[in-house]
Amino acid sequence: MASKRASSRSPSPALESAHNSPQCPSKRTKSAPGILASHRIFILQAKLSHTDISEIFDLADSADADVVGSPDEADIVITAIGMRKRLERHIDWNLAVSVELSLASKRKALVTPDWLRDSVAQGSSLPCADYAALPDLNLKEEEHQDEKRPSSKSESRFTSLHGSLPPARSQSPPRAAHADVTPPAFLLPPPVPPPDVELDHTAHLCCSRPSSLIYVNQPLCAALDVLRRSRALESNERSALSYGRAIASIKAFPRTITAKERGEVQKLPYIGAKISKMIDEYLFHGHIPEVEEMRQSERFKALSLFTTVYGIGPTTARTLYDRGLRSLRDLEAYYEVDTGFTPVENNESPDLNIRIALGLREELMLTIPRKEVEAIHATIMDHLNTVEPGCVSTIAGGYRRGKPESNDIDIIFTHPNAKSAKNLCGRLVERLRSAGLVTHVMHLSGFHEYDALRTAQWDSLEKALTVYRTPNNGQHRRVDLICALPETYWTAVVGWTGATMFQRDLRLAAKSVGLKFDSSGLTRRRDSRLTFPRSEKEIFDIIGIPWVNPTLRNTDA
Ligand code: ATP
Ligand code: MG
Ligand code: MN
Repeated sequence: MASKRASSRSPSPALESAHNSPQCPSKRTKSAPGILASHRIFILQAKLSHTDISEIFDLADSADADVVGSPDEADIVITAIGMRKRLERHIDWNLAVSVELSLASKRKALVTPDWLRDSVAQGSSLPCADYAALPDLNLKEEEHQDEKRPSSKSESRFTSLHGSLPPARSQSPPRAAHADVTPPAFLLPPPVPPPDVELDHTAHLCCSRPSSLIYVNQPLCAALDVLRRSRALESNERSALSYGRAIASIKAFPRTITAKERGEVQKLPYIGAKISKMIDEYLFHGHIPEVEEMRQSERFKALSLFTTVYGIGPTTARTLYDRGLRSLRDLEAYYEVDTGFTPVENNESPDLNIRIALGLREELMLTIPRKEVEAIHATIMDHLNTVEPGCVSTIAGGYRRGKPESNDIDIIFTHPNAKSAKNLCGRLVERLRSAGLVTHVMHLSGFHEYDALRTAQWDSLEKALTVYRTPNNGQHRRVDLICALPETYWTAVVGWTGATMFQRDLRLAAKSVGLKFDSSGLTRRRDSRLTFPRSEKEIFDIIGIPWVNPTLRNTDA
């Protein structure tokens, strides 16, 4: 199914338009990479000369603007037309003038080509109001805005670009103290979620199959997951991946597998001869001998145990095993964790992080009920909105996939103003630390070290993996804080919603249409151009696969 789609589809017209345009620029003018990366621009060609059109496309491209193919998709329309009557022939007048529309994305700023020329020349996106194509239209809007929001002078460039925005439904509403700051609608969950599409359980990629949390063949998948984990513990990634794919395939199978279904199951994606044989063993003996053997293996048991300590990965676990360590007691002695260990301020040492995690292991092993996830999220958002009013957030991870209990809390957040979103993670962590809510930061970073091939866009995700201490009972919890820029907010939400195999296949689906997807952005492969999805669904639309409800993304055992 996916491969058929892949061959019949190319990336979204929005991604292609700038380059496929017949007016594609011939000469290069000034360049200001990235300054308009968050803008969708429609170039209304009427009344512009060929030279002007060519220059404008060139400038838009040099500033990384998303040049779209119709005024409906744009938030900025560049036009040389200065008369309402003439403009009405080209764009829907209501879209251009209404300040009451409920979606920010429907607002248009109508500007003259000079806005683009001056923005590129000055290296920043200049206020649209100063370049209004129809000055009296702009005036009306300003008056209206002022009625609604007396504080509009202090607004960010971003908010003023989109005009006044309606109070919106929010997953994590700005707290009362900051109720005057309303984020733009495209950063909020849609008022009506996209309809569920019927998904095919035999689809080649698991990101197009329905994978619910509770499923009928759980015991078989749990058995195969022992082998997947054993391969991962030995850093045999290819083999671990094969098991992961087979598990994801069986997970989506809607009926309990019996001898009758055998033939059908063997035809599922990623079920090869080896897995088929194991399924037969499972059907006829009630267990898989290789799995039982592995479960008893001293090495497997010790490596599994060691990796339950946050910060100990397979490589460290194997080193510890090779040094003769077998039990948690051995680990505690090795890392000199006393009983009654009080976690100290952490520094950059990985060993110290392991000591801390080992000291807190029993607490951190406890799962977190949904209500508590929500309460911790609310507290953190209160602090975040004090640090920088107007932030939006989504609780991602297993919580978003519907898990009743989570192992940690994954919070993705951003600020509509890209400048305010910068370094927000570090500032939030500092505040939570001084409030005594974050006791340890196990890891704090941007994303650039993740893949050297990406350029500036790698700064677009900042993450802090922390230990949080609940104020009422002092219980320690793992909290991952991920800060994205507005243009990478939804890719971060999708990426951190998981599950792991779902992400992996989403990346493959993107690759098949010439795109690169991961939590830090959706880019076009040939030139690394970043696109700006305005909703979670838009990511799926651009890749060309149906949107999948998060509760059906439970692709892992
Ligand atoms: P639980 O937390 O209950 O064990 P989970 O699915 O939330 O389940 P996490 O380890 O919190 O598991 O990861 C959530 C998702 O975030 C993963 O599916 C993965 O796609 C993504 N993720 C986790 N760590 C990283 C990372 N360092 N970089 C990028 N993405 C990550
Ligand atoms: Mg999680
Ligand atoms: Mn996590």
